[in-house]
Amino acid sequence: MDTILRIDMAGAGGPRARTAPLGEYAGLGGRAMTSAVVSREVPPDAHPLGADNKLVIAPGLLSGTAAAMSSRLSVGCKSPLTGGIKEANAGGEAADALARLGYAAIVLEGKPPKGALFTIIITTDGVQIRPADELRGLGNYDTVDRLKAEFGEKVATISIGPAGEMMLAAASIACTDSELHPTRHAGRGGVGAVMGAKGVKAVVLDAAGVKYRRPKEPERFAAANRVWIEGLKKHAVTGQALPAYGTNVLANIINEAGGYPTNNFSAGRFAGTAKISGETEAALETERGGLATHACHTGCVIRCSGIYNDKDGHFLTKQPEYETVWAHGADCGIDDMDTIAMLDRLDDDIGLDTIEMGATIGVAMEGGLLEFGDGPGAIELMKEVGKGTPLGRIIGSGAAVTGKVLGVEHVPVVKGQALPAYDPRAIQGIGVTYATSPMGADHTAGYAIATNILKVGGFVDPLKPEGQAELSRNLQIATAAIDAAGMCLFIAFAILDQPDTFQALLDLLGAFNGTTLTADDVTALGKHVLEMERDFNTQAGFSAADDRLPAFFSTEPLSPHNLTFQVPDEELDAVLRW
Ligand code: SF4
Repeated sequence: MDTILRIDMAGAGGPRARTAPLGEYAGLGGRAMTSAVVSREVPPDAHPLGADNKLVIAPGLLSGTAAAMSSRLSVGCKSPLTGGIKEANAGGEAADALARLGYAAIVLEGKPPKGALFTIIITTDGVQIRPADELRGLGNYDTVDRLKAEFGEKVATISIGPAGEMMLAAASIACTDSELHPTRHAGRGGVGAVMGAKGVKAVVLDAAGVKYRRPKEPERFAAANRVWIEGLKKHAVTGQALPAYGTNVLANIINEAGGYPTNNFSAGRFAGTAKISGETEAALETERGGLATHACHTGCVIRCSGIYNDKDGHFLTKQPEYETVWAHGADCGIDDMDTIAMLDRLDDDIGLDTIEMGATIGVAMEGGLLEFGDGPGAIELMKEVGKGTPLGRIIGSGAAVTGKVLGVEHVPVVKGQALPAYDPRAIQGIGVTYATSPMGADHTAGYAIATNILKVGGFVDPLKPEGQAELSRNLQIATAAIDAAGMCLFIAFAILDQPDTFQALLDLLGAFNGTTLTADDVTALGKHVLEMERDFNTQAGFSAADDRLPAFFSTEPLSPHNLTFQVPDEELDAVLRW
């Protein structure tokens, strides 16, 4: 990972690729890399779909190594959804391949002539860029099938579906998993629209035969990796709950806690939860010959994913995860797993963020477009997005736009991005993260559920405002560092609870570079990333007024606890100030 691949999409005579030294970006990976490039090279007032925006695709610091859980791919840009800086990351095999090919980042720059569409092919022989007209308008599944037929089964791909080509603000970027299914998405913030604006339909990464990146201290690295894997396997969440039931193990837990947003955030418990829980989902997957546990990339030892087959036993989609099941389920009043799985398949194929789409359909239901619980209607609405009808383009632009079009007051967004699957009135800590993260509402930016509900890393009462700001601050700092390492965020459960597992992560990073890292170094990295991101947003015009939840969370109590969001504004304003 000693070079950056820069591709000028507006080059005379077609896109031009060049490799550049790391320079000031040396030592950065994942979110630290994407946020550094965006904050230094993209004018904060740039139009997200314009030539001045850049799309940065970066593997983590440990991607492409033998370190378990290290294949997360970060994608960064100025977001068409929020108007601020954005990093979204995905699992799958792309980060590992890109890192083994030697690139610390791909930076897509400029803007090609209208309608131009390209495929970028990166191999050990170099970079080839060619027109992708034969892929135009295809869903991610057909796109990957065509690429697979030409380049074989050993490649990894990064692609957009029709939503990205249409530059819709909820468009995602798909990465292929171990079976070459385009099911791992950098979902949030409309990153797919920026890839579409750059005229890139797909990136093919062929690292076949390229060995793992070598650590500077191989023996120390291997020893740390052993402790690391043992630590992940012995923790109850990463070693038992997630492998058995996937992330959707949370459905019953969050419903019981009264924080499972139902019917567009109008209640905290959903009557149909048992029908769409992780336990039900896993049983269905096993019964139909799918898989209740599965790794989205080689080297994952938690295996929170799965394979969801249809009623006839044929592959339909990967295991819809907790956020997706909630977004298309409880938030829309839908309690049928097959309907939810079909919506997940459509999201992946059209190239859309499942959270944004579920929340948007919930808003559309409140706006009278459909009845809550209308699964077939939700599927038809999603197909409209894929076809690019005027209504489909509105829905594909996200919850904020749809709420305005339909005159809905209850629009659950922060900085224009839809809230995920935890109601901040019942789980106050996550509300602080939603409000203050530079990313907009994003549970992964500081996952307070761990401490508020799962009692990982201590306990802070979810129903009280005290201690939530500090909890969110610490988690946001830690998360920014984890996102830089390329580690799947689910490692957080084990490192928060088990000092030896956290030390193993420090040792992995240190042994790879031949240094010694401390917890303070990690904290400093996380703070630095957040500072860059906040600074970009401030220059883009964001202020404290943008670090707030929608007003209804403070004025309308949520059943069953009948509480509002209570963390004071002064505490929100202090979260990312140090
Ligand atoms: S734990 Fe889940 S999301 Fe994380 S790498 Fe493994 S399968 Fe992918």
